[in-house]
Amino acid sequence: METMVPPGSTIGLLGGGQLGRMFGIAARRMGYRVHTFEPAPDSPAGQVSDREFNGSYTDKSLLDEFVASVDVVTFEFENIPAEVVNRISQSKPVHPRAEVLHICQNREREKTFLRRYRYPLTPFAIVSNQEEFDAAIEQVGTPAVLKSADFGYDGKGQRKIGKGERFKFSTFGTERAILEKWVSFEHELSVICARNERGNVCAFPASENIHVGHILDHSIAPGRIPPEVAQLAQSIAESIANDLDVVGLIAVEFFLTRDGDLLVNELAPRPHNSGHYTFDACITSQFEQQLRAVCGLAFGAPDLLSPVVMVNLLGDLWGAGVAPNWKLIFQHARAKLHLYGKLEPRPGRKMGHYCVFGETVEEALKEALKIKQDFYDKESG
Ligand code: AMP
Repeated sequence: METMVPPGSTIGLLGGGQLGRMFGIAARRMGYRVHTFEPAPDSPAGQVSDREFNGSYTDKSLLDEFVASVDVVTFEFENIPAEVVNRISQSKPVHPRAEVLHICQNREREKTFLRRYRYPLTPFAIVSNQEEFDAAIEQVGTPAVLKSADFGYDGKGQRKIGKGERFKFSTFGTERAILEKWVSFEHELSVICARNERGNVCAFPASENIHVGHILDHSIAPGRIPPEVAQLAQSIAESIANDLDVVGLIAVEFFLTRDGDLLVNELAPRPHNSGHYTFDACITSQFEQQLRAVCGLAFGAPDLLSPVVMVNLLGDLWGAGVAPNWKLIFQHARAKLHLYGKLEPRPGRKMGHYCVFGETVEEALKEALKIKQDFYDKESG
């Protein structure tokens, strides 16, 4: 039976990163209280929460105190130990459910799930020793990419295997891995889809994502792809949400190949970096939609109000610890700055992002990349 968790209730959030911060802002705007559980104090989400519980996920008494203080639990990062989620679900609803987390925590389980439901995938094989690696190279072909079965993020735990390269699997450093064919893609896309307990689904427009060094650099919405491809990506995301029986969000990343095939790359059962544009540019953001899904509220419209480009701000821009010159964003009346409250900039660390609106996608992209270029010119100037 679906129960509505009304405004005024308290949402428990596992994880204190920027996804949780934006979720917290969306939830508090609608009159909810937010309690965040996060090992490190003064976290991005903790800063905007009513209460932040700091401790290890294995600290049972702190976890019990946290659970007792909330009405429903959701999360902003999926690497939470299964036993923690199981313990919480004995006393409070947790969305998405533990099984969804379990599948999406591991590439082998995720790919196996997607293959079982016949979603279009990059050819891959599971590898746990040299013999299997050699057979996988025969089967999949080269170039290929070896990925650890346990999820790294932002390209961690990945190695490209070139044509004719002899590689010793034992040097890779994980017991199980996936060998995947290298895709020469035209575009990378993603769709974020919300689903509630009644089985209603609601997908956001497909965005086009550009990665640099395996990290998302910028997202363009709407993606510059034919409408029928965008629609197919949305319907695949809706179908995966149903097959997973997820309550909350599922982000689906795709490759669009040069031959026009749409292949599922990976899933995340939470808000996604490529959906940050929805916070400024859609009637309802991905964060509010997560809240609505886990609280049993009707979905808000996901409509995109304007072409928009989102650019990540990584710690590299801080140079010698000095913050970038934010005027470069403020002087642009159609640009919006988001900072996550992180005190320590490190190379590759996501510190914030900005969104730039335009009459057209091309105009938004040109302006967004000009601001980025200005940041780097200032750095080197
Ligand atoms: P992943 O962690 O699997 O999302 O990989 C991070 C990024 O590496 C992707 O967004 C792609 O830019 C690139 N990548 C991963 N797998 C492949 C592949 N099979 N072919 C080409 N590029 C890939």
